[in-house]
Amino acid sequence: MKLNDTQLKQVDAQIKRLIKTDSYYGKMYRDLGIDSITSQEDFEKIPFSSKADLRNAYPLGIQAVPDEEVVRIHSSSGTTGKPVIIPYTAKDVDDWAIMFARCYETAGITNKDRIQITPGYGLWTAGIGFQAGCEKLGAMAIPMGPGNTEKQLQMMIDLKATVLCATSSYALLLAEEIERRGMKDQIFLKKGVIGSERWSEKKREYIHDKLGIELYDIYGLTEIYGPGIGINCDKQTGMHYWDDYLYIEIIDPVTGEPVEDGEEGEIVITTLVKEGAPLIRFRTHDLSRIIPGECPCGSKHPRLDIIRGRSDDMFKVHGVNMFPSQVEELLGQIDGVSSEYNINIAHDDEINKDVILITAEAEGRVNFEKTGQLIKEAFKSKMNVTPRVTVVPVGTLPRSEKKTKRVFDHREE
Ligand code: ZN
Repeated sequence: MKLNDTQLKQVDAQIKRLIKTDSYYGKMYRDLGIDSITSQEDFEKIPFSSKADLRNAYPLGIQAVPDEEVVRIHSSSGTTGKPVIIPYTAKDVDDWAIMFARCYETAGITNKDRIQITPGYGLWTAGIGFQAGCEKLGAMAIPMGPGNTEKQLQMMIDLKATVLCATSSYALLLAEEIERRGMKDQIFLKKGVIGSERWSEKKREYIHDKLGIELYDIYGLTEIYGPGIGINCDKQTGMHYWDDYLYIEIIDPVTGEPVEDGEEGEIVITTLVKEGAPLIRFRTHDLSRIIPGECPCGSKHPRLDIIRGRSDDMFKVHGVNMFPSQVEELLGQIDGVSSEYNINIAHDDEINKDVILITAEAEGRVNFEKTGQLIKEAFKSKMNVTPRVTVVPVGTLPRSEKKTKRVFDHREE
């Protein structure tokens, strides 16, 4: 999807404003001689921005307005090294709330709803984003934050909460608890707004069934306001995102070249009107695709598909790039195979070749040898690699509460 005229002008204005500042990107663009953009080609010549830049600019090097205009900071949980600090102006905070309220509306939530907010409050952008959007919409916020399941359930019942905002893991925990206590007929929940991450269809179905609620994936990241920049509508055909605040490109994560609409790649976001910390071409490392065409709901806002994983999880065998999401898709099409698997990759010096071993779980009713053969053929035809395959009974592979490590690359050791 190309920049439209308005977006092009907005990006040009962002660049012109940035280069007048001594912010991290202001200096960078000045040094690179970038002073304006008038076309898509100009835009695509601007280097990507990244989380590494934001770490280099720690704590406030990215700030692009005078101190007196900053009203708040947020910080993203750095998994390694320094955290990232993002300054917000009053307008940024308000724009974010407007986007978030639009998310609630897109999910059919109104000012009559009572929204139980379980994501955390604090430095990160979760709880406060859900709350500001709720207040902007005019709905009743029940600002619980995470944990204390006893109190969560009490409030949910006594206040007749109609909307639950949660991570998929916490929604699952609450669903299981409500099931265990036989409290389903005491709750009034109709909808769940779930922070977008890659979560399995099985988990979605469980939460949907046990709580009897419609589920909506909300997208966002701290570097770009926070959650609330996109959500799916009732048609459940991908997440609408707010193209009057953001421009989204999908790129090939390896070459950095933009891909066609409909093709999978990495989401790269440009903020169009952000003041405190504008970002041009920010690499999110989230994998998805732009869904071409218009949504049956009639909204003109473009759509992103659900997040398919992270480009950091990519691995390469025989020169072919692979993502865990592709492996899951292939395995999901084979009868009797569970969602659990792992992949070991090693280099065999004797034959001077990478050897890939896939261990997959299958139900006892299927023939393991035949299933292994099907997996092998699927990989050969779809990915152009021929793995060795071991099929083991369901329950054999380790389960983890957190993100399960699936790819073990022994080549770097
Ligand atoms: Zn729609």
